[in-house]
Amino acid sequence: MKTTQVVVIGLGRFGTTVATTLYQMGHDVLAIDKNSNKVQELAGQVTYAVAADATDEDALRELGIEKFEYAVVAIGSNTEASIMVSVLLKSLEITNVVARSVSKLQGQTLDRIKVDKVVYPETDMGTKLAHDLFLPGIEQYMELTSTYGISKIKVPPRLINQSLKNSGFGNLRDRYGVTLIAIQRGEDIIINPDENQNLVSNDTLIIAGPDEKISDVVRPTNISED
Ligand code: ADP
Repeated sequence: MKTTQVVVIGLGRFGTTVATTLYQMGHDVLAIDKNSNKVQELAGQVTYAVAADATDEDALRELGIEKFEYAVVAIGSNTEASIMVSVLLKSLEITNVVARSVSKLQGQTLDRIKVDKVVYPETDMGTKLAHDLFLPGIEQYMELTSTYGISKIKVPPRLINQSLKNSGFGNLRDRYGVTLIAIQRGEDIIINPDENQNLVSNDTLIIAGPDEKISDVVRPTNISED
């Protein structure tokens, strides 16, 4: 993967996770927080960690921020700082500014000042948790609409050693009303699998469809067997 230079501003729980994960993925990460304790805690876990007030344009210029391809404004609760820093980064012509929002109003303001992407980690996590709770057997879930998503599920025991066609995932006659996007088998991913492909134990299925149909794959209810 191409190494990207990313600056992450605000090292609370969210910013710290973003910064350390990007660094572990092999990217160059400059992490900034005005609180020097937060900066010290991150030493060795990112490329550079610097104590600075990110609303100070001169401080940002001294750090060479304008050369960065990506910036993540991870400041959450301090709305004023989050907006000021985002404006500053866009005026320094950083191409990709991603800002975290903790409220609808903050998100709308960030959109108006032409931040490239606004993320709502708290809301997203709450939605995901609600889906995970009500779709037992599902390992991971990504919401597409409030009732439709993509899920990763362990192959249900009743489908092991069956072909996809016999399991009800045949291309022509899909018993479940979902789309099987891929099978994850160990380190391999079988994209758009053939209907003669057999499922084996420990396979993970990646399927897209309405929530209630996805849960029918895990726990079949009222599915026509003909
Ligand atoms: P979380 O909810 O992820 O823990 P917070 O919103 O509580 O996040 O933390 C935001 C972080 O952003 C804090 O560590 C704070 O010191 C930092 N911060 C706030 N304003 C600025 C600023 N102007 N410049 C740099 N860092 C800032």
